[in-house]
Amino acid sequence: MKPLCEQKLLTCPCCGQIRTAKEHRYFTNTVLDKYYTNEQGEYYLNEQGEKVACVYWAHPKRGNSAWACDECLQDGRAIKANPMRQNFCDFQPHFAYFNRIANCRDCTKSFVFSKEEQYYWFEKLGLQVQAKQVRCHACRAVKKQKDRLAFLLSNADYSDSAKVEETVGLGIKRHQYQQAKHFLAVGKRKYKKKSTTYKWLEKLEAAVEKAENVSDIREN
Ligand SMILES: [Zn+2]
Ligand SMILES: [Zn+2]
Repeated sequence: MKPLCEQKLLTCPCCGQIRTAKEHRYFTNTVLDKYYTNEQGEYYLNEQGEKVACVYWAHPKRGNSAWACDECLQDGRAIKANPMRQNFCDFQPHFAYFNRIANCRDCTKSFVFSKEEQYYWFEKLGLQVQAKQVRCHACRAVKKQKDRLAFLLSNADYSDSAKVEETVGLGIKRHQYQQAKHFLAVGKRKYKKKSTTYKWLEKLEAAVEKAENVSDIREN
């Protein structure tokens, strides 16, 4: 196999331009030269000399790798990635990050999985390199709230007033009025009618009721 750095024309996956050897120097010379193929040219090794992965992963054509030409890196369209900080096993690591367009699983609108987020995911959080963002920001926020509400409802803790308020607040925000009311009704059964907690839960119930009526008016 011809050494990777000698390959002349490569299409940059970031800008889509065909780049000559002079224009993809950072990837082919700097990145790939950090790793060494074995005698068969099949693997590259990490700094400790351990076999890390198949060299085809770093192959600009065969590996379908995420890399970027020098111009994209200089202009900031792409940022440099460090495979050694990434969590990869059966999938190729990232050699550069650039904005990727995807369609949201929930609302189907297109959104940007930004290069900064990718860097954070793969080099700070250590998520698997094949992980993909499937929801837009708005839908992710909604899902987070729904998941949190489901957790709070199934782990109802009436002794923690902050959690009770959070549950009711999220129930209103997500228009899950029935769940919020049921949650409060169950809570009320646990306290004496004259207790402050009971009265407080009643107040929260009234707030849910009010929010529900307002949303009914809006919908009609
Ligand atoms: Zn480019
Ligand atoms: Zn969405």
